[in-house]
Amino acid sequence: MPTTRDYYEILGVERSASAEDIKRAYRRLAMKHHPDRNPDDKEAEVKFKEAAEAYEVLSDEEKKKIYDQYGHEGLRGRGAAGHDFSRMNVDDIFSMFNDIFGGSGGGGFGGFGGGPRGAARGPARGYDLETEVTLDLKDVLDGCSRDVEFTRMDVCDTCSGSGAKPGTKPETCATCAGQGKVQQAGLGGMFRMVTNCPSCRGRGSVIKERCAKCHGRGRVGRSRKLSVKIPAGIHDGQAVRVPGEGEPPSPDRSPTGEGVRGDLHVVVRVRNHDLFQRDGDHLLMEMPISFTQATLGASVEVPTLDGKRTLEIKKGTQYGDLFRLAGTGLPNLRSGQRGDLVVVVKIETPKKLSAKQEQLLREYAATEDKNVNPESAGFWKKITDRLGG
Ligand SMILES: [Zn+2]
Ligand SMILES: [Zn+2]
Repeated sequence: MPTTRDYYEILGVERSASAEDIKRAYRRLAMKHHPDRNPDDKEAEVKFKEAAEAYEVLSDEEKKKIYDQYGHEGLRGRGAAGHDFSRMNVDDIFSMFNDIFGGSGGGGFGGFGGGPRGAARGPARGYDLETEVTLDLKDVLDGCSRDVEFTRMDVCDTCSGSGAKPGTKPETCATCAGQGKVQQAGLGGMFRMVTNCPSCRGRGSVIKERCAKCHGRGRVGRSRKLSVKIPAGIHDGQAVRVPGEGEPPSPDRSPTGEGVRGDLHVVVRVRNHDLFQRDGDHLLMEMPISFTQATLGASVEVPTLDGKRTLEIKKGTQYGDLFRLAGTGLPNLRSGQRGDLVVVVKIETPKKLSAKQEQLLREYAATEDKNVNPESAGFWKKITDRLGG
């Protein structure tokens, strides 16, 4: 049965997410819940299939429109429902969206290699992997190195990837004679369909005695730790590509893992800062000053990511005025040139005055010819007391 859960919720994206965000969310979930990585975990398989279903709809402009307006019912009612992934085999689902895993010689981040498995062009290429690091603005300023640890499927060293118990060999599949594909007649012979062979799942060979270590998969999950250099100026959501740190080609394309490994994409998240808000390479900051500083002008100290600077507040500064400290923002990822720190002035009105301060302000107010409240604080209290009682 297709899922009844909300597709956006399944992928963990906002309804306003871009096509690129949707693709990335799906890729992350598919890699995380892939049954090869979670052997004998029914829940992971369900999650893997749900994500595929959600992606099939949300990556299709027409279906997405119907879903946004009418939900699950709309899709079924309009005959726009996609595959029933809950009935599909995992390998077929994976190859359906092969292009977004970089698994077919496409290269690049989300590159469109295209083409189903088997229709291979060039050397077999493994899947890309994705992991995430979180940085502070200070790391963005200076650039940094981060250790990342991730699990990837590698060639099983017990069976060298064949999946067969050492001393035995996979045998040619009798159903498809090693072709991996079978033809089926549809509608009483009106047309013929080519599908993956059900006996060998498209591999062309069957394993009689499975390797005990990898249960016949030919691959085992292995943890890998790497130090990754993150360049200064990187933005939230951008990724650093580490070539050749992904997975070896899948066992059905290259049992021994020969060919080209996929890449590792390290997606960068930048933590929000208490003081500074990022705007491209510029930083924005709100700074409170007193009304006398704003009126008379002042020299004030401003914090930046690399130490304090002095800012000249000019006479007659208004609430919301902007001051720019050139070259104290973040470096541009390409040019290295630093943006500015933009200080937005917030003028604070004193809540408490000493008797002396109040007296001075009243004298000042008298020169302004503007109405101010009478001196006694008790005046208003008397009035509200009377109204209230
Ligand atoms: Zn093995
Ligand atoms: Zn077969």
